[in-house]
Amino acid sequence: MALRITIGLVLTVAAAVIAARRLWWLYRLATVGQPAPERIEAVRKHPGRDVETQASEVFGQRKLLQWTVPGVAHFLTFWGFIVLLLTIIEAYGDLFSKTFAIPGIGHWAFIGFIEDLFAVGVLAGIAAFAVIRLRNTPKSEGRASRFSGSHTGAAWLVLLMIFLVVATLLIYRGAQINTGDFPYAHGAFASQIVGHWLSPLSAGANMAIETTFILAQLAVIMGFLVVIVYSKHLHIGVAPLNVLFSRRPNGLRALEPMRSNGKVLDFEEADPDTDVFGIGKIEDLTWKGMLDLGTCTECGRCQSQCPAWATGKPLSPKMLILDLRDHAFAKAPYLLASGEEDKAALSDAVKHEAERPLVGTAENNGVIDPDVIWSCTNCGACVHECPVDIEHIDHIAGMRRHQVLIESEFPVEAAGMLKNLENKGDPWGMGESKRAEWMTELDFDVPVVDGAIGDDVEYLFWVGCAGALEDRAKKTTKAIAQLLHTAGVSFAVLGPAETCTGDPARRMGNEFVYSMLAQQNIETLNEAAVKKVIASCPHCFNTIANEYPQLGGNYEVIHHTQLLARLVDEGKLKPVTPIDEKITYHDPCFLGRHNRVFTPPRHIMEQVPGVRSQEMHRCKERGFCCGAGGARMWMEERIGKRINIERIDEALGTDPDTISTGCPYCLVMLGDAIAAKKSSGEAKESLEVVDVAQLLARSVAGSAEPAGQD
Ligand code: SF4
Ligand code: SF4
Repeated sequence: MALRITIGLVLTVAAAVIAARRLWWLYRLATVGQPAPERIEAVRKHPGRDVETQASEVFGQRKLLQWTVPGVAHFLTFWGFIVLLLTIIEAYGDLFSKTFAIPGIGHWAFIGFIEDLFAVGVLAGIAAFAVIRLRNTPKSEGRASRFSGSHTGAAWLVLLMIFLVVATLLIYRGAQINTGDFPYAHGAFASQIVGHWLSPLSAGANMAIETTFILAQLAVIMGFLVVIVYSKHLHIGVAPLNVLFSRRPNGLRALEPMRSNGKVLDFEEADPDTDVFGIGKIEDLTWKGMLDLGTCTECGRCQSQCPAWATGKPLSPKMLILDLRDHAFAKAPYLLASGEEDKAALSDAVKHEAERPLVGTAENNGVIDPDVIWSCTNCGACVHECPVDIEHIDHIAGMRRHQVLIESEFPVEAAGMLKNLENKGDPWGMGESKRAEWMTELDFDVPVVDGAIGDDVEYLFWVGCAGALEDRAKKTTKAIAQLLHTAGVSFAVLGPAETCTGDPARRMGNEFVYSMLAQQNIETLNEAAVKKVIASCPHCFNTIANEYPQLGGNYEVIHHTQLLARLVDEGKLKPVTPIDEKITYHDPCFLGRHNRVFTPPRHIMEQVPGVRSQEMHRCKERGFCCGAGGARMWMEERIGKRINIERIDEALGTDPDTISTGCPYCLVMLGDAIAAKKSSGEAKESLEVVDVAQLLARSVAGSAEPAGQD
């Protein structure tokens, strides 16, 4: 007895010391990052919301269950380990007393049953993981495997360790049944089966097996503890923290304001010597960003949904996180060194790592290739999929900000767009005089706000740059205006007083230009006393609804598809003219995934007589980007397959007569792809992409699109 107590305790203390040292090191590394007081404040302000999030995401495994088979396997393993904590207490108790029972639980047969049930559940879970890993190997599937780039050896080691935890547990419990030391008379069905297998052995042999496997169980658990803190399985401990401190409702919608030393950066007072401008070094990440790096499970769910990765670009959101993590760990001795003398004494390898530019080409020894950060469309698929709430878009935006504002390094073709925004207030540089032209093609007058919006005017229709200036998008604008007029909705527009919301500049990383445009618009809207805004562009919608509040602009914003669906339901718009077509709807990322507007556009299509809707394989939360978001609309797409072509290929798989959408960017990108497909003979000549508003206008009596509306 004394020997097994000694061995058990020595193992435990040794593992605890190793794990504690590592955890202290990780804590110090994380806190090298920038402060993020807003994250702590959010938790303090909304404790109820956080309890709910932990309940659904950590204990309910909500995001993991989006993937049914691996989700259920993870659910079983997670809950198995929670329940098996009881067996760990029992194993320690057994070291000291053969009749040990957990106080308050005693020898209740139900607990024995539950412990065995979850032990078997964990075995089923790891068997499923093994099969999934064998079927999705990077070797057989290449880039298509979500495990491509992950540390697969470490994953197999952990599966083995989990197996050993359960196997040693069942073996010592089986032996206990034969020695009479087992606390549960009934219920522990799996232990009883193992006990039955061991029953031909002598009492002495069962005694030896019991002692050996209790110690083996503790050794495996302690070994597992050490593996956890040194591997990707760190997520077991830190995922609940990462979820707790993640942005709510999620890391989508708004970009974070630029912060330096925990405060929102004021460009007028910023000091280039002391302030942090985006992420230019690994230590410019906040501690929450550092926590993100340590939390990644390498599951590859983000990678599997990323349009950039799917079309052959160098960006994988998973590899981005892993590369940042590897760099942070390799640079850690430098970051944690207490003074110049300590730094000078570091190895050459560490010094070399510390000197690497965070964003730079392979020739320049960069950690992250520039093509990686510039390939992102900000579609949000990675953030949506990530089971541990890692905020990839924030990290990419941070690096873009540093590249644009400090290094002046960004795709050269986007420079024109930024210049046009600064000088003319729209990305094409067409100027304010062109913004009212679309109105002249309507057969009624659209009121233009002059001073304050009238009391009799309910909505400000935010037309957007594309909606006012781009020929294809102008058709949507006119259809919306026509429908609102038909339904008797009172609305006005800003006309020449409207400028770009600043979204392309912000997503590019130019927070300075964004702030300038956003402040100007907020001033205009506030002076006009605007309360309710209709936005036809999901990027404008997202910016005004979710980003302007950061600058004091608070409005009730509705997307045109939401309002039109309501007007149809209220009988103010009556679709009567049949449109006998098969139509597939493309979800704009900033309307769908970012803002969860999935139903209204589909509802409108359902109300149009004759329309046969056909979903694409990737739709709603799993919708596939058109390739224009994240300011990609103004950058060349030189690497891999074009994202809009990939999307159109999928749409063509439904053999549609028409493709519908709810975004002017998507309209342009998909329109370009259709034109390319027509010229190669892969799409029928009659195929077109239209906004849902155009479809509705064609069907609503009195709102038909005027011929030659463009
Ligand atoms: S936002 Fe979209 S494009 Fe960017 S990394 Fe995530 S999934 Fe890829
Ligand atoms: S970032 Fe999230 S989704 Fe991507 S591999 Fe890591 S844990 Fe999985």
